[in-house]
Amino acid sequence: MHNFAIVGAGPSGIYAADALANKFPTSKMLIFDSISSPYGLVRSGVAPDHEKIKEVSRIFDKVFSKDNIQFVGGVKIGSDIGIEELKPYFSAIVLCHGASLDRKLGIANENLKNVIPATSFVGWYNVNPEYSNFIFPEPKDKNNCSAVIIGQGNVAIDISRILLKSSIKELYNGLSETDISRTALSELRKYSFRKVHLVGRRGPLQAACTDKELKELCKLEGVSVIISEDELKLSEEEQNWLTQAPKGIQKNYEILTEFAQNKSNNDFELHIKFCLSPHSFIGEPELQAVSFSKTNLSGTPERRSAIITNEQEEITADYAFVSVGYKGKSIPGVNFDDSSNTYPNVAGRIENENGLYTSGWIKRGPSGVIGTNKSDSVETVTTIVNDIESGLIKESSKDLKELLEKISNKMFTSSYLDWKKLDAEELRLGATYNKSRVKFETQEKMYDFLKGD
Ligand SMILES: Cc1cc2nc3c(=O)[nH]c(=O)nc-3n(C[C@H](O)[C@H](O)[C@H](O)COP(=O)(O)OP(=O)(O)OC[C@H]3O[C@@H](n4cnc5c(N)ncnc54)[C@H](O)[C@@H]3O)c2cc1C
Repeated sequence: MHNFAIVGAGPSGIYAADALANKFPTSKMLIFDSISSPYGLVRSGVAPDHEKIKEVSRIFDKVFSKDNIQFVGGVKIGSDIGIEELKPYFSAIVLCHGASLDRKLGIANENLKNVIPATSFVGWYNVNPEYSNFIFPEPKDKNNCSAVIIGQGNVAIDISRILLKSSIKELYNGLSETDISRTALSELRKYSFRKVHLVGRRGPLQAACTDKELKELCKLEGVSVIISEDELKLSEEEQNWLTQAPKGIQKNYEILTEFAQNKSNNDFELHIKFCLSPHSFIGEPELQAVSFSKTNLSGTPERRSAIITNEQEEITADYAFVSVGYKGKSIPGVNFDDSSNTYPNVAGRIENENGLYTSGWIKRGPSGVIGTNKSDSVETVTTIVNDIESGLIKESSKDLKELLEKISNKMFTSSYLDWKKLDAEELRLGATYNKSRVKFETQEKMYDFLKGD
């Protein structure tokens, strides 16, 4: 019998399990996750005010309800159980454990307490158990705070929206009804972020966000989005290229142009700035400003890179949020590419590894939307099917019951049914506090609830 293990119950792992279950209806798929709740970043990354996007978890629930798919929560592969211990039980193991570490800038004073990695801030407001100890540092003046967000991807935009919406309480009362952390929201609501800067190294045609996220900023009532028209000037070469550029880039440029023309005058301002590369954080012990080197762009319009100049610009700020991408780390003992922070692979088969496959962010890096992981996992499963047909991978001989017993003798694990109990409790608490849900803050609290403590 061909049985399969999937490491990580985020989108890529669930899509991989689903595709495998369709191809091998009599096989068994075990999906391991280090925490007792599935869905990965759909639960702990997607912004609380994007509730519609989180509804994809209902589609994921249909996958978990298949008879031959079993969720094993609370097991961290690589530390609770090694990959070598798993191998004898499965024909193939698909590593789908995402990219959860933050990318550092590597510049002076990055460890000041008011310089906050996006991973920590997002994890905190989304109640990711890994960030339950995060403490938001207090500002000098609660009524007038400023922030610089380094990066212009969707996560950076999420951060700017959450800071501004929690500051303008009277207009965004609805934020408290989402699944946002009650602790984080009550903390953030004490402060007024009047000036937020979204800063990118490259130009308006290279902004990493999607037009959908950028457009949402137009609808932010009470906020003036400010861009200098000079920042949007294009060379003749860029103008020509833009007419044939991908639709997303064209739309982004249109939206940015609208922002530049809009001269609204609100108490809360979101400044979008281009061609600034972070040089250092200024202030001791507290952040006072971020120093940037101005950049020039070189290369063809579709492959522009930022060249640092000697000119500097400082932006005064009480907080800086570093949102320059997530990065993955290897499960010990598995071939890993330390420069791309992904598993080197050919169509999902990890190079120089027998029976190990990969999908999602740890396969291709932290890019794309939730749906991108579906085609990615289908590609990996196609490779597995081909490898089985060609005899490259063999049936597993050992009984899965033995493995599951071994794991549960060692530690407390949770099933999909357990997750449904946790889910029901979160929804019940949500109804009590007029929120869509109140999430368990830590893995221990989930265990205590399941054990009936
Ligand atoms: C802040 C943020 C906001 C986003 N918002 C959107 C959005 O609005 N719309 C959109 O389409 N996309 C959004 N995305 C992107 C989307 O979330 C990702 O494309 C997707 O989650 C990647 O899926 P994945 O399965 O590769 O990784 P993940 O979702 O990270 O899942 C990995 C899973 O592996 C588990 N795991 C990790 N290590 C181990 C281990 N050693 N053993 C067992 N389990 C392990 C983790 O607990 C996790 O559940 C957002 C991403 C971020 C970071």
